[in-house]
Amino acid sequence: MRRIGLLGGMSWESSIEYERIINTAVRERLGGVASADLVIRSVDFAVIEALQSEGQWEAAGDLLAADALLLERAGCELLVLCTNTMHRLADRITDVISIPFIHIADATAAAVHEAQVDTVGLLGTRYTMEADFYAGRLRDVHGLNVVVPGADGRALVHRVIYDELVRGIINPDSRRAVLNVIDDLAMAGATGIIAGCTEIELLVTADDVAMHYFPTARLHALAAVDAALASSR
Ligand code: GLU
Repeated sequence: MRRIGLLGGMSWESSIEYERIINTAVRERLGGVASADLVIRSVDFAVIEALQSEGQWEAAGDLLAADALLLERAGCELLVLCTNTMHRLADRITDVISIPFIHIADATAAAVHEAQVDTVGLLGTRYTMEADFYAGRLRDVHGLNVVVPGADGRALVHRVIYDELVRGIINPDSRRAVLNVIDDLAMAGATGIIAGCTEIELLVTADDVAMHYFPTARLHALAAVDAALASSR
């Protein structure tokens, strides 16, 4: 089993779920009391959030690249960055490490293809919905059509993430509001929804959505397990 490095804390409300999902899957697959071989680096999200809102992506990239290197030096054989938004800096990170980086959009796109969906609605932070690093990868590398909410829907989803979900607040009114945004995405042609923020699946689960639903933290964590067990030794 290969050692997985989790670069999380963005926010810990979701990265703690990575640990649970990965350990549960390893126990199911290997049996007995088996659990994952993990090294976890959980950052202070207040620092990251400030850099995001000030647009200081380069500084954020420097921090995450240094942390990724720490995980590699700690013997990790795979790197998992437990946030969609900070995959904006994926290239900055992969430039400094030599271990494989499991890209969250690739893990998600594999599940979308498996479900034979070709048009997805993308929910996430405004950074993820409005910049091209994520939708562009889904389109150009994976051949998917991607629709995002209109301005009001994007503002609502972003607010729910930063004012509630990363603070551990699960609000049923917000769930209803996000489900309305999902209805609008279906009207715009989406036949599947990517929960492209690792906290969204804490609020909206597959049971809430009447079409294909792709929870990125879960899919990413399970892709890490597949990779960790692929060359068992
Ligand atoms: N966890 C979130 C994501 O998947 C948002 C928090 C962050 O900005 O990293 O995008």
